[in-house]
Amino acid sequence: MLINPQVSSLTKSATLKITSLTKQIKKQGKDVVNFAAGEPDFDTPDFIKNAAKEAIDRGFTKYTPSSGDNDLKKAIAGKLKKQNNIPVESENIIVTAGAKYAIFISLLALASWEDEILIPLPYWVSYPEMVKLTSGKAKFIELPEENNFKLTPELLQKSITAKTKALIFNYPSNPTGTTYSKKELLAISEVIKDAKISVISDEIYEALVYDKKKHTSLACLNSMQDYTITVGGFSKSFSMTGWRVGYLAANNNFIKEVSKIVGHTTSCPCSISQAAAMAALGEKEWQGQISARFEKRRNLLFKGLDKISKIRPLKPDGTFYMFSDIRETGLNSFDFCSRLLEEELVSCIPASSFGKEGFIRISFSASSEQIKKGIDRIDKFVKQL
Ligand code: PMP
Ligand code: GLU
Repeated sequence: MLINPQVSSLTKSATLKITSLTKQIKKQGKDVVNFAAGEPDFDTPDFIKNAAKEAIDRGFTKYTPSSGDNDLKKAIAGKLKKQNNIPVESENIIVTAGAKYAIFISLLALASWEDEILIPLPYWVSYPEMVKLTSGKAKFIELPEENNFKLTPELLQKSITAKTKALIFNYPSNPTGTTYSKKELLAISEVIKDAKISVISDEIYEALVYDKKKHTSLACLNSMQDYTITVGGFSKSFSMTGWRVGYLAANNNFIKEVSKIVGHTTSCPCSISQAAAMAALGEKEWQGQISARFEKRRNLLFKGLDKISKIRPLKPDGTFYMFSDIRETGLNSFDFCSRLLEEELVSCIPASSFGKEGFIRISFSASSEQIKKGIDRIDKFVKQL
């Protein structure tokens, strides 16, 4: 079969590939420490599962509107208004089969022939590959290591040309864990407004911020609603990665256009998962609990890694990822991760998949016991090099 070259040029998702390889090794009975995980390590809470069972029993098993069940859209708009200060109504929401699909359809809707889509680097693996499937072109903005890999207004300004259509902006960031203060976001938003470009603000890790920092949404800043597509989801905040529910919030015109893509592709997200998401939003206590749990793990991992010579971890403000410098070991990130898995049964993600060499991503979505075991094994591995 002759394959479309746009598709042949795609690389496989390294994060999904390594995560499933790790699960396979575990299934074989091997004692592998999973520092590759891009999902919470605990089960979806019972109150969410029960809502899904109840939805099946009451026959909530048919197509919903393409843009999502009306009650769920209302609940998401309510959450965005109350928690994120974004003035939206349910007409501004599309519920999608995961945040990933929300980003993809936003890119499809934005990027016409040769339009430039700006992607800060290190980036989450799927952004450049998604852009390849559109008519647009990815243009990378190399983020400065000395500024904790943060985007600055100056860097953004320098990267904008007449062809620039949009920026994909993710914070707290996968893979670096960096996040932004309101002041920093305001400065970036001024550049976006001046250039009149759009921004896909991927805020999927919004519930995971530490050290009493507060997440600020780009769309709540002065006039930014006209330029911003806010992407959020349930995968990370409620440990619902397999349920596939996410959403985007944007202005009415954008929503009308993007709903057409959904109508002709997935039709709508799974009705049962939408009922589960509705229950998730009704629970107020959960978010505080989840970030407190991950903050303890972050502290434990940072303390342990920081003591290992030749590994320099970056303390993340959010997410469950610790971006760590391995350049002093002399290995590239792929070799480091392959050998660490083979020799010491610890799986991590090489940062080459995020466009950056010399670093690895270590996920602390693991129990304290696993974190301690993983630190000991990394220490042993590095000492042997
Ligand atoms: N954005 C980022 C930065 C991510 O890490 C992920 C991880 N899966 C997603 C979006 C997509 O999340 P999901 O499709 O599971 O909602
Ligand atoms: N986003 C997670 C990660 O970066 C999950 C895997 C994926 O969707 O790519 O590991």
